[in-house]
Amino acid sequence: MNKIEHIGIAVNNLEAAGSLYEKLLNTAVYKIEEVASEGVKTAFLQSGPNKVELLEATGEDSPIAKFIAKKGEGIHHIAFEVDDIKAEMARLKSEGFVLLSDEPKRGADRKLVCFLHPKRTNGVLIELCQCNAFPGKARTRELSKAEQLNLFQFRNKLIIPDDLAAYFMLNDSEIDDYNQDMFIFYKFDEFKSVEEEVGDFGGVPDFRNIINTLPQHQDCFIFADYSITVSVFAIRLCEEKSEINEIYSILGDQYKIVAKSFSEFIALYKEDFSKVLL
Ligand code: ZN
Repeated sequence: MNKIEHIGIAVNNLEAAGSLYEKLLNTAVYKIEEVASEGVKTAFLQSGPNKVELLEATGEDSPIAKFIAKKGEGIHHIAFEVDDIKAEMARLKSEGFVLLSDEPKRGADRKLVCFLHPKRTNGVLIELCQCNAFPGKARTRELSKAEQLNLFQFRNKLIIPDDLAAYFMLNDSEIDDYNQDMFIFYKFDEFKSVEEEVGDFGGVPDFRNIINTLPQHQDCFIFADYSITVSVFAIRLCEEKSEINEIYSILGDQYKIVAKSFSEFIALYKEDFSKVLL
């Protein structure tokens, strides 16, 4: 076995624990992932060479829910990195350890994993994990777009609605196909809050007061602009999934709700984009 790959900690609330560990380790959560087969949602932090995996149950049947019911929040497992998980599983089995699965399973963070029963390891649940188990994907440490969307939602405590998420999953040229006549649609890495994007824009028109006129402006994010009139278009994100995500056409410190969802906005825009202007 190689080094300890990570320490898994069972938590009641991933968002609260994520924020706490961000403060503790002074580093941001770099990845959020749900492993449906295991009934967990995970958040990863890295401090120097050390990784922490926070685990929240996604249902009552989740092993994490059972663990917390029995023992409360706390250290759930220690994961060791191995080069060849199958060989290591065979070795440990022959040594009398009890494996919790006969075959390696796909775990979080693109690893192949297998757990050892704690009854034969002094009460500690041990995870074996083989990194880079999916070479095509694991070669780069860059996050996929879906992972970036997850991370955005976690950090902002806001949900990206399905229609907007589907749009952001398009490739760059598909997004560029929405553009017409100086109307520019943004890619996900350009998707910024109203304050970040135009909060200090003191030109003509002057946007600096929009953060005072637009209610809860911190939940509104800009996804397009129209440079002829210097308008920007923002969507209101909500903490929970919502039927309504208002779309604002913004000009200086003036705004108007022009649609109730991203799809409704796109339909109007395609029909006649003057309909979405303020
Ligand atoms: Zn783990």
